[in-house]
Amino acid sequence: MKVWNATASRMRCMATMRVLQTYLDGALDEVAARRVAEHLEDCRRCGLEAEVYQEIKTALGEQDRTVDPRAIERLRHFGEQLARGDASAHGDHGA
Ligand SMILES: [Zn+2]
Repeated sequence: MKVWNATASRMRCMATMRVLQTYLDGALDEVAARRVAEHLEDCRRCGLEAEVYQEIKTALGEQDRTVDPRAIERLRHFGEQLARGDASAHGDHGA
């Protein structure tokens, strides 16, 4: 088990969320993209958010599918939680 500073972790999450769309667009520079990829591997929470983004992107790309507004709402909620700093309060005790 690695020592994992909660504040540093949260800052990485916020930084990751900030560039996630750019990353998924393939428009992020190589160094930053690798950092994001590593974080997504490490951080299940951000990994899941990345999947949601991918779903939204896919849905937007397919005109016959509509974006689930709950997915967007969930993303916004997630960002707000991170900003308030209480995401960790219920982050790690599910399955
Ligand atoms: Zn994260």
